[in-house]
Amino acid sequence: MVETAKTAAKTDTDPAGTVAATFEAVRAAYRGGRTRSLGWRSAQLAGIERMVVDREQEFLDALAEDFGKPRVEAWMGDLAPVVKEAAHARRQLRRWMRPQRAFPGKANLPGSAWSVPEPLGTVLVISPWNYPVQLALAPLIAALAAGNAAVLKPSELTPATSAALARLIPEYLDPDAVAVVEGAVDVATALLEQPFDHIFFTGSTAVGRTVMTAAARNLASVTLELGGKSPVIVARDADIEVTARRIAWGKMFNAGQTCIAPDYVLVERPVAEKLVDAVTRAIGELEGPDPSRTRTRIVNARHLGRLEGLLEGSGGTVATGGKVDQAERWLEPTIVVEPDPSSPLMQEEIFGPILPVIAVDSVDEAIAFVQDRPKPLALYLFTRSQRAEERVLASTTSGGVCINHVAMHFFVPELPFGGVGPSGVGAYHGRAGFEELSHRKPVLRRGTRVDLSMAYPPYDEQKEKLLRRFI
Ligand code: NAD
Repeated sequence: MVETAKTAAKTDTDPAGTVAATFEAVRAAYRGGRTRSLGWRSAQLAGIERMVVDREQEFLDALAEDFGKPRVEAWMGDLAPVVKEAAHARRQLRRWMRPQRAFPGKANLPGSAWSVPEPLGTVLVISPWNYPVQLALAPLIAALAAGNAAVLKPSELTPATSAALARLIPEYLDPDAVAVVEGAVDVATALLEQPFDHIFFTGSTAVGRTVMTAAARNLASVTLELGGKSPVIVARDADIEVTARRIAWGKMFNAGQTCIAPDYVLVERPVAEKLVDAVTRAIGELEGPDPSRTRTRIVNARHLGRLEGLLEGSGGTVATGGKVDQAERWLEPTIVVEPDPSSPLMQEEIFGPILPVIAVDSVDEAIAFVQDRPKPLALYLFTRSQRAEERVLASTTSGGVCINHVAMHFFVPELPFGGVGPSGVGAYHGRAGFEELSHRKPVLRRGTRVDLSMAYPPYDEQKEKLLRRFI
């Protein structure tokens, strides 16, 4: 009997055995062929939409229990993007699945050529804790839209959300072809030993390396959505009030625990002080009178300790904030002016509500600062100057860019989202996600009526002449 994914998801007693059984069950469902049809794919996407809409309260409760995500922030960051992404994929799917014609080349006439996207097979999705619904389901949307079977392992650091996903997914999606396996590193390691066709990992750059190494054993393809330090460049001609509000919003959303949060600011010296004042005011306005309604908690005590350590060793001046509340697991939104560029605060991804601000003499100096560091996941530029925009775009490399805002490029369904180099491999969202999780198979069909002897040996001078004209 093929064990269904639904029954195979309990890993407490024998993680390796259960993981292997789940993989086999899901792969058997894939090999049975039903995940390939448009109907199956559409039904899974519709299932994800229904699940998130119908069970919104259960997800919101889990997110609040795990790390106090405020309701609107949880909906905006975790639930709404999933519904939008699934609906978009469902509506576009028929078009995406169509074969694309190509000219077969003179040498192949008469004939026709096309490429057709086909599923990769069984896909493993490993997701992080910071947007634990969205970063589990958005990769799943791409995998299922592309006709794959999938196993999802949510993060163990957000256990209530992980449990909600494990409970609800089998109710709304095909339980034979889509499985959830809960667990920590031991379970992830056991999963990585299975011969998946593709691994879609979202998490830290360090673990991304481990995942890519494991994938190499089976030559599985990978999508790695990793982290890093996303810089903000503020030019002297920027609208400082709007810039400050948008940076503060991006840094405070989810308490800065966002892969594309603005990590640090490089601001042109003449407006540096004005910007720090404006961000300080914006923080106050965005928090309102009762921070308990607006602040997401730091996910656990270890991460709070890590952030305290970054603050202590920054070598800069705390311009605003800085207070830690262990009981509430909070760190006040904090601005650090002129930290030491070699301090851990400026070397490691912050992933919390601390904003380092460094003054630079010019946009060119900011560009050089960014070029000297690993390619970031996102780069933000605030300016009114088209020349500055063109210069930054032409001289920096990053996963994505957002001009005069932060993070919003993530929400454009038809823009590919992903990193480059140490911030990631591959991209998804919209059609990019569909293509990422598909193999685009080229097909050439030749006619048999014409079969010129010049194509075949033995070759002579005359044949060579003709071949040189046709090939
Ligand atoms: P993490 O790398 O610690 O964990 C991510 C997942 O990997 C979890 O499910 C975890 O159980 C698993 N894991 C941990 N150690 C493993 C190992 N040795 N082998 C296999 N699997 C293992 O990341 P996190 O702390 O959950 O998330 C924060 C990081 O994720 C940040 O660096 C952030 O920038 C990044 N991130 C990136 C994106 C993106 O879209 N690029 C989105 C969110 C978060």
